[in-house]
Amino acid sequence: MRLAQQAQHLQHYLSASIPTKGSDEDEDQLLPVNMEDFGFENVQEVMNFCSSFHVNSFTLSSPSLTPIGVSNSPLMALSNHSCDPNAIVVFPNGAKYMELIAIKDIQIDQEILTSYIDLSCPYDIRQRDLKERYGFQCACTLCEKSKDQAADWVDPRWCVRHEGCKCGDGKGKMPVTGSKRVVSVKCDKCKEDFKVNAEEVLSVVQKGVDVLDSDEHRQLDYKTAQRTLSTLIPNLQKHLPNHSYPLLSLLRLSSVSHTPPQSPKDLQIALKHIKQAYEACYEVYNQNHATPTLILCEYAKLLSLKDSEQPKAIDLNGKKGTEMKNTIIRNLLKAIEMLTKAVKQSEITFGKGSVVGKELEGILEGCKEEMERLKRS
Ligand SMILES: [Zn+2]
Ligand SMILES: [Zn+2]
Repeated sequence: MRLAQQAQHLQHYLSASIPTKGSDEDEDQLLPVNMEDFGFENVQEVMNFCSSFHVNSFTLSSPSLTPIGVSNSPLMALSNHSCDPNAIVVFPNGAKYMELIAIKDIQIDQEILTSYIDLSCPYDIRQRDLKERYGFQCACTLCEKSKDQAADWVDPRWCVRHEGCKCGDGKGKMPVTGSKRVVSVKCDKCKEDFKVNAEEVLSVVQKGVDVLDSDEHRQLDYKTAQRTLSTLIPNLQKHLPNHSYPLLSLLRLSSVSHTPPQSPKDLQIALKHIKQAYEACYEVYNQNHATPTLILCEYAKLLSLKDSEQPKAIDLNGKKGTEMKNTIIRNLLKAIEMLTKAVKQSEITFGKGSVVGKELEGILEGCKEEMERLKRS
């Protein structure tokens, strides 16, 4: 229905561009235009055109995956969707062109599949987004597995932490909406049952989802995000592992909202949260997917800022000076290690010479020079 309205609007919009009407006509009144001039025989054809554009278009993004518009490629649109894709569509040099990159080995005759949605979302949200935006229900391997609710499988995107788990990082299924106040959940590692306050968990999860929604609709300024997330993230972490929705996205949002850091405290928070996101993201993303690669790049970049906390002039002769120098060297080594890793990974994900890769190479070079200077001093 919404699409039909859009088609009507388009037809009226086109009418508005028709030059001067006769003096006896009301110039403010838009009459449906003759669609044949535009290659359409009737509204139905306009509607079909709108639908195909709608379902075949890609979100055009900046190199850091920030949505900046819509693009269309008949060739790229040939790839079908899977929540466990073997390829990704990226814009390695900004909006100039898009590339299809394999993120897994693809056999001859195997279908090339990309994902149309955010893969850190749980089953219900993925299905809702696909239905709303593309009008289909996904039956990929991951969705089938999630739908079947296999007793021994816990989706890392939608789970609760087993606090005090003997195995360390056990998790259980997220309670369903409308369940009893306190439910018993089975841990996927130690196999013990543990109690979950469903009401409390679902309420704090909903708060997180609301924050992501307002961010998606650009109704969230970074100051508000910082304030809200400073209490929401620890509350979520009481119940969820960092890879569970919506925590993973919120950790990244918190880090982004503190970047570029305005103070050592900002840097500390940004680093802490991006590190947690980095360590958790491979639970839900393929290693070569664009999102974990960008998380790794953001983490490496923030590590390279670490030494800005230190005073510029160091008395290297004093005991304190030597300690400080050693700290800076340790931080630089860590930054160089992660930047090298990020450069390599960005070549796999975005290809050689991408905007993201080039920026990292520049920072890496700077860190190496800094290291040489420190060694000489
Ligand atoms: Zn799916
Ligand atoms: Zn356990």
